[in-house]
Amino acid sequence: MTTLVIGGGVVGMSVAYGLLKQGIRVTVIDGSDTDARASRGNFGLVWIQGKGAKAPHYAAWSRSSAKLWQGFAQDLKEVTGIDISFSQIGGVEYFTDADELQQDAADLQGLRDHFKGDYPFEVLEHSRLKQLVPEIGPKVVGGIHSPMDGHVNPLLLLRALSAAVQQMGGRLQTGAKVTDITGADRAYTVTLETGERLEGEALVLAAGLGSADYGADLGFEAPVRPQQGQVLITEKLPFFLKYPSGRIRQVNEGGVQIGASKAETGADTTDLPTLQELARYAVDVFPLLEHVQLVRSWAALRVMSPDGLPIYQRSAKYAGAHFVTCHSGITLAAAHAGLLPDWIQDRNTAPDLSLFSESRFNV
Ligand SMILES: Cc1cc2nc3c(=O)[nH]c(=O)nc-3n(C[C@H](O)[C@H](O)[C@H](O)COP(=O)(O)OP(=O)(O)OC[C@H]3O[C@@H](n4cnc5c(N)ncnc54)[C@H](O)[C@@H]3O)c2cc1C
Repeated sequence: MTTLVIGGGVVGMSVAYGLLKQGIRVTVIDGSDTDARASRGNFGLVWIQGKGAKAPHYAAWSRSSAKLWQGFAQDLKEVTGIDISFSQIGGVEYFTDADELQQDAADLQGLRDHFKGDYPFEVLEHSRLKQLVPEIGPKVVGGIHSPMDGHVNPLLLLRALSAAVQQMGGRLQTGAKVTDITGADRAYTVTLETGERLEGEALVLAAGLGSADYGADLGFEAPVRPQQGQVLITEKLPFFLKYPSGRIRQVNEGGVQIGASKAETGADTTDLPTLQELARYAVDVFPLLEHVQLVRSWAALRVMSPDGLPIYQRSAKYAGAHFVTCHSGITLAAAHAGLLPDWIQDRNTAPDLSLFSESRFNV
């Protein structure tokens, strides 16, 4: 039995890797370089604090992924020899606005109450935060430290997944744009731009923004929209930033990454006012960044569902077709590799993902 995975971004590749680990035959079909590819333009966070503030089931799902991340990174290294620079010593969110700090702290307290105390974080006012992170500037009013957070090099993650999938016998077809999918129960035929046809008994639609084109054929709504994020990166600096934050982190190669903005547009181009705003915030938090060189900026498109939460949907039209999407594919990569394959195969060990189905959009 072959499972066709449409989309070779981090979501499709994590799922493919997980299926291969369970002995399933997999073919991943990935489109062209002109496609939007969030997996190549993201911020690299395995981020938990604040996630699912209004949706505790999402907070719990994200945390279950974060708990699997260490083993996932280790596994990838054993299979491929690639160290993806994963670190999970915790993260710090920095605030220059006291009201914002208070609001975020209240959201986290709500989650802590929901999880009956099992939701570790600490709110630090300026002087205590300065003991932890001496480089912060005077405009920082405080921060929130959470031991649940981490970060990774997302491009190395994608490279490792791609190597792992192939080493484990998966077929990875790149530059292979799908132009048609025909389905029947446990019988799928995918036609590529080249005219080539691929067949499988099961199918996972994980084509990011491209999923919208094929949802209806397979019985999904696939209501995804693009949300733009812009990112800046500095020249390589001596390592000083121990803790990643949601908006600033020092990557394993030394550059400081700043971002990511949020704009409801499908344009994947940067603009100066947005980049200036990102840079201003970074200098407010870390004044030492004021005179460093910026070497690169880019924009990429997030894959957003109407409520920003993942969608895991089995097709009501055909047996064996699944739709998978999320806007935190790095954070959720370990769960997608470790937990989702059971759900795809409808095993009784599968996590209950019913709250993430598309039916939530139709109430
Ligand atoms: C600026 C920014 C910052 C982010 N930061 C973080 C972060 O810190 N942490 C985190 O967890 N997440 C983050 N994300 C989100 C994360 O990057 C995405 O959740 C993830 O990359 C989505 O992966 P994907 O595989 O669903 O989509 P994509 O990476 O977009 O991949 C979709 C793939 O499908 C293929 N495809 C599309 N149509 C077709 C077709 N017709 N035929 C064949 N193939 C097709 C494309 O070629 C593409 O390779 C960020 C995103 C952005 C934009």
